[in-house]
Amino acid sequence: MSSAIHKRETLQGWIDQTDSPFVIAGPCSAESEAQVLSIAKSLKADNKVSVFRAGVWKPRTRPGSFEGIGSEALGWLNEVKKQTGLSTITEVANAAHVEEVLKNDIDMLWIGARTTVNPFYIQEIAEALRGVNIPVLVKNPLHADLGLWIGALERFDKVGISQLGAIHRGFFSNNPAPFRNEPRWDLSFELRAKAPEIPILCDPSHIAGKREWIKEVSQTAMDINFDGLMIEAHNNPDRALSDAEQQITPESLNSILEGLIIRTESLDNVESEKKLNAIRHEIDGLDSKFISLLNGRKELINKIGEIKFEDDMTIFQMQRWFEIMRNRENLAEELGVNKSLVQELFNVIHKYSVNQQIDLLKKKQR
Ligand code: PEP
Ligand code: MN
Repeated sequence: MSSAIHKRETLQGWIDQTDSPFVIAGPCSAESEAQVLSIAKSLKADNKVSVFRAGVWKPRTRPGSFEGIGSEALGWLNEVKKQTGLSTITEVANAAHVEEVLKNDIDMLWIGARTTVNPFYIQEIAEALRGVNIPVLVKNPLHADLGLWIGALERFDKVGISQLGAIHRGFFSNNPAPFRNEPRWDLSFELRAKAPEIPILCDPSHIAGKREWIKEVSQTAMDINFDGLMIEAHNNPDRALSDAEQQITPESLNSILEGLIIRTESLDNVESEKKLNAIRHEIDGLDSKFISLLNGRKELINKIGEIKFEDDMTIFQMQRWFEIMRNRENLAEELGVNKSLVQELFNVIHKYSVNQQIDLLKKKQR
């Protein structure tokens, strides 16, 4: 199902301001006026950042950690704007935050991962923004639920927010290593397919969780055509009051951004384009053979189903299933095909084969 978000103004105006990637940067949290001003001035001097970020209300997983300065820090963000000309963005998590942000003339707002999970909060924030023309960026929810992410975007769309964007910050996983959150890039592709008008920024800081991985995650985001980056930068990262391990200095941010390889979606080189098209043609041929093979497999499954029906045999037999998987995995290893790919593929193929036989037996038993 595609989303109900239709052609909107979106954030493209902001994103198209520069040739290089659109970058939002700044500390995880605003800690003091001197801190935000010092970071903002460094970022401004390097001239690669368009929007200054700082969290003012911090949704911390556990109580007792630094929970942000609150409204007072919105005045500091305004000072950043006055002194550097950078636009500003902060996180809101309820209607009262929205009221404060609007009163203090902040340019954009983002919705954090711990808020996107809750449709009640999203609806409350959306209602507080009805009729207001401010860009809203929605982070993915903590866990890999695309529906909640799209649902939040739809709620803002419905109240008339025309400049909407998404931020991919990775997903909670029991096994995210080496990162803090699992990137699950596939979910950003799905979001693109369902809501093509929504630009998607990547937040390498919260995906990586450690400063040494920020560069790699940022490059991957560019390689797969994200529309921009949101990166946490701090003047003294080790002493940061939140997310210390993942923050980097404005200098490191500058060197990461300088080193990024930016790719284009189309090819300028005619020779390369010819080669690419020829290979794609071959792939199309293989894929159509692949689908014909699946069709042949389907006919065989029908025959098997007939025999099982006649002789009152169960559809699923554990030993046979183990044997299929072992044998396919071994072949994958022998040929150098990714074993997890083959496992996932045959899980799907097997699921449909079993369903096909269930349908066949149901029909016959009627
Ligand atoms: C943040 O950007 O500092 C933040 C709290 O992020 P998230 O909501 O992605 O955890
Ligand atoms: Mn943070």
